[in-house]
Amino acid sequence: MTARRLDGKELAKVMRAEVAAKVAARARSGKRPPGLAAVLVGDDPASQVYVRNKHKACQDAGLGSWVHNLPADTTQGQLLDLIARLNADPQVHGILVQLPLPKQIDPDAVIRAVAVEKDVDCFHPVNLGLLVAGHPRYYPCTPHGVYQLLVRNGIDPAGKEVVIVGRSNIVGKPLGLMLAQKRTPANPAGGDATVTIAHTRTRDLAGVCRRAEILVAAAGSPRVITADMVSPGAVVVDVGTNAVNGKLVGDVHEGVGEVASAVSPVPGGVGPMTITMLLVNTLAAAETIDG
Ligand code: NAP
Repeated sequence: MTARRLDGKELAKVMRAEVAAKVAARARSGKRPPGLAAVLVGDDPASQVYVRNKHKACQDAGLGSWVHNLPADTTQGQLLDLIARLNADPQVHGILVQLPLPKQIDPDAVIRAVAVEKDVDCFHPVNLGLLVAGHPRYYPCTPHGVYQLLVRNGIDPAGKEVVIVGRSNIVGKPLGLMLAQKRTPANPAGGDATVTIAHTRTRDLAGVCRRAEILVAAAGSPRVITADMVSPGAVVVDVGTNAVNGKLVGDVHEGVGEVASAVSPVPGGVGPMTITMLLVNTLAAAETIDG
């Protein structure tokens, strides 16, 4: 591979140390640690791993962290009761409900139940509205992780042609919005880029991808982005996490590394950055709630 590696693991270490330093400074001035409550319903193995990683990252950075494990047959009412308690708990600054939820629970009702200032995933419609309006309370974690992975590696999306493959509410859509927005003091991660969002109905996906100076793969389809879809010298960010024969692989084929100027690996790229942005948002929530 000739492309530069956009190392999310290393950058995550740096940014988590920044968070830890701010948390320690708050402790020295007598403030309680930022606290994150994670709620896991059921026993989906992937979700258990995600929650465990988030819990450990919080502890390592000096944040309070609580994991609420609820059985798979939890009712929506029981989950909403727990969220109401967490909303009222002064030690809890951020609430994360791990998705997906079992069938009997409406995820939209749960997302709407989280207090907006504790919605550190930035899934609540009010927080999404603030993002759309260009003065976000929080940035959603995975899109923000992608943004930081770019800019902290000296790759400014401003003025560039960006193509994002995927239009989900969690990754593609908010990332496209962030990268297309004007960068202002209220919206420092506005990308000022020219953005195209591609999906399964896109005509000539390869041709659209070749227009990209920055190509973001968030399709959830293993190795769907091949070298012939990448313009020589483009930067490629791989958000995909797909289990193939027990191994974690991204959406980007290995051959892309011979064409692109930079590629983020899977694992070790966007994944650790997503968790880091959760810590950043939980710290910001504590600053808002406790001052
Ligand atoms: P999702 O909800 O399944 O959305 C996938 C999107 O990609 C859809 O918009 C779909 O188009 C599009 N798509 C799928 N296959 C395509 C193809 N062959 N050509 C063009 N478009 C295609 O997935 P998601 O939640 O956004 O997640 C995407 C991937 O990122 C998954 O692998 C997920 O595990 C990973 N992820 C990683 C992190 C991290 O921290 N590393 C965080 C979140 C997600 P349609 O809308 O037309 O169906």
